[in-house]
Amino acid sequence: MKITIVGAGGMGSRFALMLHRSGADVTLVDGWQANVDAIRADGLQADFNGTPVVAKLPIYTPADIATSGVQADLIIAFTKSNQLADMFAQIRPIIHPDTYVLCLLNGLGHEDVLGQFVARDHLLLGITMWTAGMTGPGHVRLLGDGEVELQNFAPAGHAFALDVVSVFKQAGLNPKYSPDVRASIWRKACVNGTLNSLCALLDCNIGQLGQTREATPFLREIIAEFATVAAADGVTLDQDEVCHHVAETFTADIAAHYPSMHQDLVVNHRLTEVDFINGAVVRKGQQHGIPTPYNTMLTQLIHAKEQLVHAQ
Ligand code: NAD
Repeated sequence: MKITIVGAGGMGSRFALMLHRSGADVTLVDGWQANVDAIRADGLQADFNGTPVVAKLPIYTPADIATSGVQADLIIAFTKSNQLADMFAQIRPIIHPDTYVLCLLNGLGHEDVLGQFVARDHLLLGITMWTAGMTGPGHVRLLGDGEVELQNFAPAGHAFALDVVSVFKQAGLNPKYSPDVRASIWRKACVNGTLNSLCALLDCNIGQLGQTREATPFLREIIAEFATVAAADGVTLDQDEVCHHVAETFTADIAAHYPSMHQDLVVNHRLTEVDFINGAVVRKGQQHGIPTPYNTMLTQLIHAKEQLVHAQ
């Protein structure tokens, strides 16, 4: 299976490295020129659970790959949500009728974006609990373990989804074929839609958020809106279970962790994925006539903060 990973940031690099080490044929595409230059010059350099690892992988800019003649059986999308549409518009020439696209981004509604570029029966959706972080152009830190859950978006993609599970298993990515990946995507979006946006706004880590008196009522209100909109979208979420799942993180090993939206916005002054997390609930709520005041306010506050720090 020829695999092209689009977005060679933390997660794209993790999947590229693990797949490459298992013998898979992997090509990278990235829009950050400094990152492309560094990987071309010195290879992808990773701190892989404390061991330095270098992988020489082919990498293209979106403009270069469009004219490269590179063919992919599978394209794995690993941009940030707000970069997805622009990236796929640029790489459209490498998407052939036989090409499948797997989306593992956090957030909601990516099937609508990708549906503009690939037939729905060639679309696979998933979530991953693996983590990764960039420490500079061409450098990533890859610690700990994780899992992947994926499913074909339309019935015709079932056999290919199973092939992907098998390739990922070979790479040690701990994949599982999901019987209902949309429910898993919504459940994960609840985690991001509470911890990411609140920690970014309050400039705190997960444990500090959990110590505030407001944390539990915030979780209940935000998740209630997610669940109401999800139900209108055909997905059932157990609100109590999801609230418990999020609240557990307040005292878990990851309590000292600053979620990625905090790192993007507060530390690195980068634009956030909020429009595909809380903002997606607002948009979908409007379509169904469901008010979402908490998610509306969170989305607006994150955008206001993006402007204040001149996020790019
Ligand atoms: P990332 O920010 O590391 O990379 C995304 C893109 O941004 C890449 O093209 C990268 O080259 C570019 N980029 C990174 N730093 C940049 C900089 N300083 N200047 C210019 N461009 C830069 O994103 P990621 O963490 O790999 O996340 C990809 C997707 O996976 C997101 O939807 C995210 O929510 C999701 N996700 C991330 C993690 C994680 O632990 N990082 C875990 C699960 C899901």
